Amino acid sequence: MKNKKLIIIAISIVTIGIVISGWLLTRKDYDEMTYNEFINKIENSSVKNVSIIDDNTLHVKLNDHNNITYKVPNPSKEGFKEYLLINNIKVETGNSNTMQKMFQSFGVGIILIGIILYLRKGSSDNKQVIVDANKSKINSNKVVTFTNVAGNDEAKELVKDIIDFIKTPDKYSSLGARMPRGVMLYGPPGTGKTLMAKAVAGEADVPFYAVSGSDFIQMYVGVGASRIRKLFKKAKKSEKAVIFIDEIDAIGKKRAGKASASNDERDQTLNALLTEMSGFNDNEGIVVIAATNRLDTLDSALLRPGRFDRQIEIGLPDYNARREILSLHARNKPLHDSVDIGKIAKDTVYFSGAMLENLMNEAAIITANNNDKVITSNYIDKAFYTVVAGSEKKDRSNITNRDRQITAYHEAGHALITKLLLPDNVISKVTIIPSTKGAGGFSMSIPKDKMYQTKKEIRNNIKVLLAGRIAEEIAFGKDEVTTGASNDIEKASIMIKDYIIKFGMDDELGIFNAESANVKDTSIVTQCRNEINQAYKETKEILENKKEYLDEIVEELIRKETIDNVDIDIICA
Ligand code: ADP
Ligand code: ZN
Repeated sequence: MKNKKLIIIAISIVTIGIVISGWLLTRKDYDEMTYNEFINKIENSSVKNVSIIDDNTLHVKLNDHNNITYKVPNPSKEGFKEYLLINNIKVETGNSNTMQKMFQSFGVGIILIGIILYLRKGSSDNKQVIVDANKSKINSNKVVTFTNVAGNDEAKELVKDIIDFIKTPDKYSSLGARMPRGVMLYGPPGTGKTLMAKAVAGEADVPFYAVSGSDFIQMYVGVGASRIRKLFKKAKKSEKAVIFIDEIDAIGKKRAGKASASNDERDQTLNALLTEMSGFNDNEGIVVIAATNRLDTLDSALLRPGRFDRQIEIGLPDYNARREILSLHARNKPLHDSVDIGKIAKDTVYFSGAMLENLMNEAAIITANNNDKVITSNYIDKAFYTVVAGSEKKDRSNITNRDRQITAYHEAGHALITKLLLPDNVISKVTIIPSTKGAGGFSMSIPKDKMYQTKKEIRNNIKVLLAGRIAEEIAFGKDEVTTGASNDIEKASIMIKDYIIKFGMDDELGIFNAESANVKDTSIVTQCRNEINQAYKETKEILENKKEYLDEIVEELIRKETIDNVDIDIICA
């Protein structure tokens, strides 16, 4: 609120200043002249020009060399202007104060803009600030360098010569080296692709222009293309620059089998981009960096030599990288001695850099909400679940006992099968507390950090996913199962499809990837069904045999709402 007032005051002062200085600049001293005198001067042919200011005033200049402007009453008579013209006098209408008017409208404009900004600010008080993505912008707020990027060592190595090239393009062009004009960063969301692009600009000390591919979709034909051209024109003005195009897949997706007319716009935008990129000279220090989550969906035209011919993977951070990222984002935060960054890094397999940053930030917020001064591991624990599942729903009074039972069986099923089939996983939390993201409860287990997954492990993971629904069925009967398993079913279906097609692990179908070979294979669907039903049957047998464990876990869950590995170990001992 205070800030807003300051802004308003500042705008007002600036506006008043401009209006006053405009007035001062255009203000002149006038000598008065009577109408009679004026008519006499006209008869003497000594009037040079007349400005009709308004209905009451004329400004008059004479043929002498004093350059004095005289103020004369305006008779506002019909035919008066013609009379002046006949006497060879130059007549202007309101000319002498255009400057003043200009300044005035300028001032009014500023006031209006100020008011609009104020209103917009007011209405978006509680919303996230949205950067105007439609305009390419130079990020000048904070220079990002390699020190802001933790981990990603291979990627850093791979962009080093690009940075050198931006700084001294001649060094490369004189040797006839063709440097990549385009760099494609690919990898899962939140792994720091944008950060890396900014760091390249920061390390090379050049401006950073950013747009997002998604800004270009659903625009009128030609608009996207012209925007691309403008962007490059702007970048070329600064001679050296990094142009960053996020979500390049929005304009550079593979063309679907048959060309469809509706994608005209996308193609034009893409073509404009490719044309601009081929228009660089070799000694220009401009590099285009694009980012995508999926390299395989991109049009191959983008990846050809001379285009985005350097492709760099930015993957999920491994244990060491997670440690570094956590330390980086903990730097400005007071941590309690009990906090062990190494342990957090261990517990955050599959977290992206953005999630890790989010984790530390949430922990700081939760600490502040509790009016504490240091972040304890307890707060980090809380933040952990917020990042993974959304914050806990505070009002749980309207949840029926029946719902609680269903959730408890569902989650107990996941947990028990995890314990039995994936004993290496650590079950970090099973809860029947619903999250604000809509889950009724959840169970989370941390897999071992490793490179490969075996066939057996994938099958077991599928069984863990199915176990929620199966436990419901065992407890309440076939017709009483609920919608709570939809997310599990989705994940299991994708997993079984990958198992069969991508990884060639199905005994019957073997290792032929029909999708890549682009041939129809209807037996895949049948086999997916068979496999998943078989997994369902096997898992159901296990759970039925261990029904007493299942019931005990449920009991414990109803009592404590949240349990972990230790509780389950005790039950299954
Ligand atoms: P992407 O572009 O891959 O989706 P971003 O670059 O937008 O990811 O990352 C989002 C945020 O996550 C960054 O601003 C940063 O705070 C954090 N982050 C991600 N990766 C890293 C990293 N390697 N080192 C430090 N912070 C990171
Ligand atoms: Zn489930």
